[in-house]
Amino acid sequence: MDPTRLTLVEQTRLFKSGELGAVELVEAHLARIDRLDDALGAFLAVDADAALACARALDARRAAGEALGRLAGAVIAVKDQIVTRGLVTTAGSKILAGWVPPYDATAVARLRQADAIVIGKTNQDELGMGSSTELSAFKPAKNPWDLARVPGGSSGGSAVAVAAHLAAAALGTDTGGSIRQPASFCGLVGVKPTYGRVSRHGAIAYASSLDQIGPLTRSVADAALVLEAIAGQDPHDQTSLPMPAPGLTAIGPHVDLGGLRVGVPDEYLGDGVAPDVRERVRHALARLSDEGATVVPISLPHTRYAVATYYLVATAEASSNLARFDGIRYGHRAAAPADLAELFSKTRAEGFGPEVKRRIMLGTFALSSGYYDAYYLQAQKVRTLIRRDFDQAFAAVDLIAGPTSPVTAWPHGERTSDPLSMYLADIFTVPASLAGLPALSLPVGRDAHGLPVGLQLVAPPLQEVRLLQIAHGLETLLGRESCPFGAEVAA
Ligand code: GLN
Repeated sequence: MDPTRLTLVEQTRLFKSGELGAVELVEAHLARIDRLDDALGAFLAVDADAALACARALDARRAAGEALGRLAGAVIAVKDQIVTRGLVTTAGSKILAGWVPPYDATAVARLRQADAIVIGKTNQDELGMGSSTELSAFKPAKNPWDLARVPGGSSGGSAVAVAAHLAAAALGTDTGGSIRQPASFCGLVGVKPTYGRVSRHGAIAYASSLDQIGPLTRSVADAALVLEAIAGQDPHDQTSLPMPAPGLTAIGPHVDLGGLRVGVPDEYLGDGVAPDVRERVRHALARLSDEGATVVPISLPHTRYAVATYYLVATAEASSNLARFDGIRYGHRAAAPADLAELFSKTRAEGFGPEVKRRIMLGTFALSSGYYDAYYLQAQKVRTLIRRDFDQAFAAVDLIAGPTSPVTAWPHGERTSDPLSMYLADIFTVPASLAGLPALSLPVGRDAHGLPVGLQLVAPPLQEVRLLQIAHGLETLLGRESCPFGAEVAA
């Protein structure tokens, strides 16, 4: 048996029962990373020594009959946007090259408390800005379903690591789709929790009113298990909600989909959506109907303003958040500046890539005196209208469904020279982010090129359990599919 082919739930079960050793698990994953990651570019740092030390300690604790956490033995990768104590963290940017954080993000600390094994840090678009992981300052990541195509982004490295079985699960961050869209492009489950459900402490801030940490996994049950471990209030994040974590145990083996009302927004299946994507989404909805669910056409009329609104709010917040990268506190510092002003400007000119600079300029402009009312304030008002669209829809339906992305994974280079075409691909993920709602991407088959298609499910605030239950039910109906990349490589 190759332990890297198991789901996270299976890995932890076999570890706890004594059928699989933690060292054996870690070694199998490290061997795959060694063999395959040069071609994939999933990892920016692999923490082999620490992962093996952690595994040895776990094996000893199990041998001694000690109590084990719910993620014991699970090999998990962490997006480089999330800080890890003692392990270099760059958020895919030269401005943080070589930075070793002195603390763990709360989500990472909670993974460790649950006895998960952190195997390394994953590649991403610089500071979370992008939808393809081509905008990493270090290297692009490749989609394991087709190496000529992008894995999505910005959490592309996390998606590649899990889809190619280099880790059982990964953490990502999602500001406007960065968990859901790469999950969709790589055939995975990706969950963006309700805003405030998971602590942002230690997630390097992109847009603070939108950022959330969440899991990318190969099954819904795996996602639930990871989310359960990382969620819950945190004194280090004043926006974290005082709610208990949603749990795997609430999902149950069988889910009744009868009576469920699923809203499908007209705006989500229009002409801009690739025909194969539409067909796969319709097929998944038909399976829900077969089980007794009612599919209700709805409207989210402000959807067409969502991309513009998102790129004003997100860049405005980013322009402020990124002020901390000044060459004084951490990371890159320009050599031999003439004075303090030049230290700041040279450090930032050298450290940030072109997309990050574009967004700092956009955001600074949108917040500047004379333009604030016309852009930032207006965007905030439209954000409220987008939220109201959802409030009204949820008066009549339990859940909203549609494609996660209008297209499947595109070829490398296709959108890098045209930032607007990259932004427009976020059309279906940014609305739930602006509204703070929990949303999940579930694989629902593949297009004519064999590329995965994702179905996005959006639930009312804090209804992660319901969201995961329904996704689990649909996953059971549709079956799970494993990416064949590197399947022949024995552990
Ligand atoms: N693609 C979007 C952006 O570039 C979303 C990124 C994210 O969620 N971090 O802003």
